[in-house]
Amino acid sequence: MADIRKLAPGVVNQIAAGEVIERPASVVKELLENAVDAGATRIDVVVEQGGAQRVRISDNGCGIPPEQLSLAVASHATSKIQNTDDLFRVATLGFRGEALASIASVSRMMVRRRCAASAAGAELEIRGGQESPARPCGCPPGTTIEVGDLFYNTPVRRKFLRTTQTEFGHVAEAFVRVALARPEIHMTLTHNQRIVHDVTPVDRWLDRITAFFGAELGDGLIWVDNREVDVRVSGYVADPRFSRGNNRMQYLMLNGRFIRDRSLQHALGEAYRGLLLTGRYPIAFLRLEMPPQAIDVNVHPAKLEVRFAESGRLYSQLLAALRNKFLTTDLTAKARLNPPDSATGPERSPADPTPAHRQQLVDWARGVATSGHSGAGSAANGRGTGTGATPPFRPFDGAAAPAQPEAARRPTTTSSATESEFRVDAPHTAGLGMQVHNRYLVTESADGLVVIDQHALHERILYEQLRARVLDGTLESQRLLVPEPVSLAPAEVAMVLESRDLLRQLGVDVEPFGGDTVLVASYPAMLANLNPGEVLRQLVERLTGAGKPPERRDLLDDLLHLIACKAAVKAGDRLSTDEITAHLEQRHLF
Ligand code: ADP
Ligand code: MG
Repeated sequence: MADIRKLAPGVVNQIAAGEVIERPASVVKELLENAVDAGATRIDVVVEQGGAQRVRISDNGCGIPPEQLSLAVASHATSKIQNTDDLFRVATLGFRGEALASIASVSRMMVRRRCAASAAGAELEIRGGQESPARPCGCPPGTTIEVGDLFYNTPVRRKFLRTTQTEFGHVAEAFVRVALARPEIHMTLTHNQRIVHDVTPVDRWLDRITAFFGAELGDGLIWVDNREVDVRVSGYVADPRFSRGNNRMQYLMLNGRFIRDRSLQHALGEAYRGLLLTGRYPIAFLRLEMPPQAIDVNVHPAKLEVRFAESGRLYSQLLAALRNKFLTTDLTAKARLNPPDSATGPERSPADPTPAHRQQLVDWARGVATSGHSGAGSAANGRGTGTGATPPFRPFDGAAAPAQPEAARRPTTTSSATESEFRVDAPHTAGLGMQVHNRYLVTESADGLVVIDQHALHERILYEQLRARVLDGTLESQRLLVPEPVSLAPAEVAMVLESRDLLRQLGVDVEPFGGDTVLVASYPAMLANLNPGEVLRQLVERLTGAGKPPERRDLLDDLLHLIACKAAVKAGDRLSTDEITAHLEQRHLF
């Protein structure tokens, strides 16, 4: 074995950079945090090519004294803590004194600063960790840090960078996290000379949230505020009619710092149990405020995760706060008006709910949430359900369950108890078979009677047709007269634009529009009566929800199932004689 040697400082810094600086968005995060710590009231972020080419952040904060410029970029140098005790009362976002040194070791970095009092500024240039002497320069008061050619001297790292769109998506997310935590700061984000965000200071947190996520979501947010001794949980959670297929819209701000916390996210999920379908996640913007001594922030290099001294108590507090709030908020009426699974919107709903309806809806929500079906017609319920049970009747399990939301949308006097007795009223007879309860097709086979869930059957038929058309390139797509704007989270915009080819194969044509908006320009003809924005959002959730990038083939298959499910007849749809016949005939084709 070779001799043991102490690593050169440059190597040490590059290793440290490996932990903290993963991609351009990490640079943006670290520099933004420094600007916030410097007390800035205005921060401008300018990035080029997703940040890989250039990131420049200017702030009007306290600035760095000229004689300390060199120290600021040295490793383990910080003005924020002095001793280990300080580690347990951190009131700033930074404290490790590593960010600037790490970034400087893997880029060409320029630090410019000027105090408000002095006329001239000073600048310091560092290339791959090598410093040039500081020199005077003209610049506005505050600090400007420019980071060029990130990873130019670590080619392996550079290779890991994804497309400009994806990298920019992460940058925008880093920006949003800080901007959400600090509504009092004026912040701008510019990408390739285009202003993407310009958020002015606001008094109400809600205004900053809607600046990013739109007024529609803003209207659906519910205020929560709970204090127990020295811990306060406050902010907004979304009405259950808004939900996501992943937990990325759960913004937790701990003493002004964005964090991820599995336990708290679990508490959120628990609070919504029975209100959201399985596989759906609540949207939340929550502030946690507590004494710094109650938290250990020194457990994660990027400080995304923290350790709570009393995590169990915090879990219970959050859960109780939300449950109490939900008990006094009429969520069921809203859930009824626009069920989370709704493809067709509120217009199908009957008038105001009676107390009995309301109870049914609550039961429905509970039943669906615990039944293990992902409501949007998961891929599974299209498969292998072409034929139903033969006598004795077993028609209400398996394939029938996912159809419940539609049944609940138009509650009848039939309770689930009487349903399972299979009482057929006024069957709708047609050639090959008949429709019962506007939900099942009944026909005969050599073995006896066959009961088929109409939604599952139609979904299966459409899936096969769609697949055949996608494979031979004959899927009909319709150009929309007016392209439909759809607003998405920054990372989702990136994902959509990156998946344009895939979406085009499915007949969905999207174009960038700017900011968090994309335009749906054309759309599969067979989905004509569904809202393009809603369908695109669901497709995006499939794209982003998989954790690791899914195999193209699996994804295509998954998306086909989703589209088939959306386009298929629903439980509750009365079919014409021709439709009944056609569906029953087509089930033999596969
Ligand atoms: P940390 O933030 O953990 O202290 P950094 O490497 O990010 O470590 O920054 C080192 C030091 O440089 C900070 O402690 C601070 O004193 C100074 N500094 C960095 N950025 C700024 C800024 N934008 N304005 C004022 N001072 C800054
Ligand atoms: Mg820092």
